[in-house]
Amino acid sequence: VDAAKPFRKTKQREVILEELRRTEDHPTADAVYQRVRKRLPNISLGTVYRNLEILSECGMIRKLDIPGTQKRFDGKTKDHYHVRCSECGRIEDLPGGLIPEIVRHVRDMTDYEVSSHRLELIGLCPECRKQHDPTDGDNSQVGD
Ligand code: ZN
Ligand code: MN
Repeated sequence: VDAAKPFRKTKQREVILEELRRTEDHPTADAVYQRVRKRLPNISLGTVYRNLEILSECGMIRKLDIPGTQKRFDGKTKDHYHVRCSECGRIEDLPGGLIPEIVRHVRDMTDYEVSSHRLELIGLCPECRKQHDPTDGDNSQVGD
């Protein structure tokens, strides 16, 4: 993106942004395309890709680079963190509050001034857990 060029608002870009902001499931570019296409039947996958790149370079959305899988996109740009299912790839937001605590500890222990962070927790989502062990589906037994 040419930094000298002001960010242009286009109809396509707006729809892509809207679709991303109203979901919490961190879709891939293909999934965004499928949704946007319902509203803009003539849009191409390439246009969706390009606009997702531009929007993330402008900081209006976030791009989640996950090694070994397709990139995912997040309409939420405020600092927050994710937990990812290693089985089905589903990504969900983690509740806030944990990270400020970690940053505080790092500052105390290392004298670093932390300017940004990336954190991803990986595990098995409730659905995949059920499939691994069907008897483990009852949440009341999980509280250890
Ligand atoms: Zn899963
Ligand atoms: Mn998120």
